[in-house]
Amino acid sequence: MFYKLPKFNYYRVTSLNEALKLINELEDFKVVAGGTDLVMDLKIKRYIPKNIIDISRVKELDYIVDDGDRIRIGALTKLQEIVDSPIIREKAYVLAEAVNQMASWQIRNIATIGGNLCNASPAADTAPPLYVLNAELKLVSVEGERIVPVTKFFHGPRKTELKKNELLAEIIIPVEKDAGASAIKLGRRNAFTLSIVAVATLVKVSGNKFTDVRVALNSVAPTPVRATSVEKALTGREVSLKAVEEASKLVVNDIKPISDVRASADYRREMSIVLTRDSLLKSLERIGVRIGGEE
Ligand SMILES: Cc1cc2nc3c(=O)[nH]c(=O)nc-3n(C[C@H](O)[C@H](O)[C@H](O)COP(=O)(O)OP(=O)(O)OC[C@H]3O[C@@H](n4cnc5c(N)ncnc54)[C@H](O)[C@@H]3O)c2cc1C
Repeated sequence: MFYKLPKFNYYRVTSLNEALKLINELEDFKVVAGGTDLVMDLKIKRYIPKNIIDISRVKELDYIVDDGDRIRIGALTKLQEIVDSPIIREKAYVLAEAVNQMASWQIRNIATIGGNLCNASPAADTAPPLYVLNAELKLVSVEGERIVPVTKFFHGPRKTELKKNELLAEIIIPVEKDAGASAIKLGRRNAFTLSIVAVATLVKVSGNKFTDVRVALNSVAPTPVRATSVEKALTGREVSLKAVEEASKLVVNDIKPISDVRASADYRREMSIVLTRDSLLKSLERIGVRIGGEE
C-alpha cells in the first residue's frame, strides 16, 4: 500500500497557454514534467493532489538557444540534452560538468532541469553551477512573466518563489568571458547518488589578482547557498595557494549542515572546505593559472 499512487484526475497539456490556464483554474494540483521526483513523492504520500497536470509534452519549453551574450534553456530540457549540448559545453561548461555527475544516463534522459529546480531539494545539483553563473529564471503565469535571480528562487526544502499559478519557463545564463569555472560533487559513491556536498566555483583573474570569485554549495543548508565569506576574502587578493586555502576555510561561515543518512554535519563541514579549495584550484587551472595543490 505504501507505494501505491493516490487517485487523481490526470490532464495532459501540449501548450504553455493550456497549462497556464489550467493551473489558474484548478485549486488542488501538481504539475509533472519528467516525474523522477514527483512520482515517488506521490507514492510516499508527500503530496495527495486532486489533479495532476502533465506538462512533459509542452514542446515549446524544450530548447537550448544561444543568443550570443546569454544562453536560454527551456524548463523542460532534459538533463542529458544539457550534458550533450555543444552550446552549453562551449559557453557554460560548468553546468554540463555538474549535470553529468547527476543520477544515471537513464534518469537524465527523463528528468528536466526545471523539475530539478522546482523540486527545491537542498541537494539539487543544477543549483551550484547556476548560482555561480548568476543565472536568472523566467516564471510565467496567465498574468505575464517575471524574472528572478536563481539565488532568490529557493525558500526552503520544497519551497520556492513560484506562486500557485506560475510555472518555471526558462533558465537564462549570461555568458561569462575570461572566467574559469568548475563543479565537484561528493557522494557516497561515484555515480547514481545524491550529494553529501557539491561545490561549484567561478573565478576571474587580472594582473595576478582575483577580480571576481563566486562559490556555491548544495546539501549543506536548507537551500543551496553562495559562500559570500569565501568570495569576499579572495576578491581583490593576490592569487596564491595560501590565499585559496585560507579563504576556503571560511566556507563554514556560510553553511548550516545537518547530519543525515548520507553524512554527519562535521564531515560535511570538513568536505565543504576541501571541495571549495579543490574547485577553486581547478577553476584557476581552466584559465591557465596553476598554483599547485595536491590532485
Ligand atoms: C534514481 C534517481 C537518482 C537521482 N539523482 C539525482 C542527483 O544525482 N542529483 C539531483 O539533483 N537529483 C537527482 N534525482 C532527482 C531528480 O531526478 C531530479 O531532481 C530531476 O531533475 C527532476 O526533474 P523531473 O522533470 O523528473 O521533475 P518532476 O518529478 O516532474 O517534478 C519535480 C517537482 O517540480 C515541479 N515542476 C516540474 N517542472 C516544473 C515547472 N516547469 N514549473 C513549475 N513546477 C515544476 C513538480 O510539480 C514537482 O513538484 C534523482 C532521482 C532519481 C529517481
